[in-house]
Amino acid sequence: MTNSSDSSHEVIPAETEAALERVADYAARHDVLYSARAANIKQSAVRDVFDISIRPGLVSLAGGSPYLRSLPLDDLGRTAQRIIAEQGLEALQYGGGQGMEELRELICEVMAAEGITDADPADIVVTTGSQSAQDVAAKVFCNPGDVILCEDPTYVGALNTFEAYEVDVVTVPMDDKGLIPEELERTILRLKEEGRSIKLLYTIPSFNNPSGVTMEAGRRQRVVDICRDNNILVLEDNPYGMLRFDGHPLAPMRAGNPNDVIYLGSFSKIFAPGVRLGWALVPRHLHRRFYLACEAVVLCPSPLTQMLVSAYLTDYDWRGHLETMRVLYRERCEAMLAALAEHLPEGVHWTTPEGGFFVWVTLPEGIDTYPLLYEAIDAGVVFIPGAAFTPSDEASNKLRLAFSAVSPEDIAEGVRRLAPILQRALAS
Ligand code: PMP
Repeated sequence: MTNSSDSSHEVIPAETEAALERVADYAARHDVLYSARAANIKQSAVRDVFDISIRPGLVSLAGGSPYLRSLPLDDLGRTAQRIIAEQGLEALQYGGGQGMEELRELICEVMAAEGITDADPADIVVTTGSQSAQDVAAKVFCNPGDVILCEDPTYVGALNTFEAYEVDVVTVPMDDKGLIPEELERTILRLKEEGRSIKLLYTIPSFNNPSGVTMEAGRRQRVVDICRDNNILVLEDNPYGMLRFDGHPLAPMRAGNPNDVIYLGSFSKIFAPGVRLGWALVPRHLHRRFYLACEAVVLCPSPLTQMLVSAYLTDYDWRGHLETMRVLYRERCEAMLAALAEHLPEGVHWTTPEGGFFVWVTLPEGIDTYPLLYEAIDAGVVFIPGAAFTPSDEASNKLRLAFSAVSPEDIAEGVRRLAPILQRALAS
């Protein structure tokens, strides 16, 4: 063995070389065992950049993490301790696959605050975040080659999940008022003429990830009606809906449409993602299979975190906390919009979100934002290139900036670092 610091001349010890060969041999033999769908399983670009963004000194405008410091952590610690001490045998045991009844009742109160007033706890399945509900929806409804429609752009985690089921994800254009109903009709007509089987419309109507755009109230019912007329289920993903900066949240598409919409909620953004809890409110006639499929994946959602969330919703002022978060995210969003207006060159456009975590930036046609990420990393700032948010691998002139987890000062600094990179891209 040498101690050379030049890795190109490094001599790999014989036993290591043998071990590497053994691994390569196994990899080659096991490669043929993968299912066809495993080829579609890939790491999301957001997770790639997440790993980079924890480097010290870097301003991360990449990850859409919620701000957690205003949670009553000491009190929650005491609550967790009490749960273990007093109800430990239940909290640490397996629970029911549908989730605890007390929590499902509380979830109905949360949804009522947003405009879904007719939910029955019996129609809810508590899930391991909204992410696992997306997976179950694709699994329960889609055969390989079936179509899921979604907004362009849409949530990268959903794309990865759907594609793993060999689904063909087809995008429908949106504008600053959300998904365009006429485009939806056109897309459905075209696909039907091609003989395709369309199962779901996956939509994030409030503060879309990544664009920050909200589907206006008037379009929501129209979109549900189009889907109903074409026998397509709406999969409404609404983790950000309660985080509207001003005024009352818009009624979800599920409100008034109990048979046409599977509604997905999450505690990740209104409480904390670490509890890994979300829920699906499923039309009664679909509920049993959906719930059994959830059970088959996780057996049951964590009783411990369900009890913690139930305690949070009963013993704490969760509405007050949401109000605090709305003010905080509004300030951060305003800081980002102000910094963009001050520093970004002419020819660059961005959305003005009414809530949520994200601003979507559009550069002139022909500029690919992916290579710019590497320049940005060198300059000490990270974002997510737009190509991550569409099913095609085509280059994109868009990028996503998240303001949720960064102080207003760091947001300004991050945009200051980003600006010269965009300027150079526009000039070249
Ligand atoms: N849907 C959307 C639109 C999201 O942005 C996210 C997370 N960023 C999820 C679902 C996943 O949320 P959860 O933590 O509830 O699994």
